[in-house]
Amino acid sequence: MRQHPEGPRGPAEVVDGNAIAGSLRALLETDATVVVVECAHCGASAPMATAVVEVDERAAIVRCRGCTRTLFTVLRHDERVELRIAAVASLSTPPA
Ligand SMILES: [Zn+2]
Repeated sequence: MRQHPEGPRGPAEVVDGNAIAGSLRALLETDATVVVVECAHCGASAPMATAVVEVDERAAIVRCRGCTRTLFTVLRHDERVELRIAAVASLSTPPA
């Protein structure tokens, strides 16, 4: 197994994307309205449900309620959904 140079918590293993599937499942299977979004511009951190959304037939522009910057955009292409991340510092499951 290849390893990155020593980091602050010791050497890290180099693996492929399959390794994060379990971690991401917890986030992606959470009710989207309670996922906590942190704004990369102002640092505000709040549940998705509190964001300001500008929506039309093809797109939803999701803005930070604190500073109005675009956090991300959701685009609909017929059967496909595309997420374009702009100013999301982090997405996290809500506190237990
Ligand atoms: Zn903000």
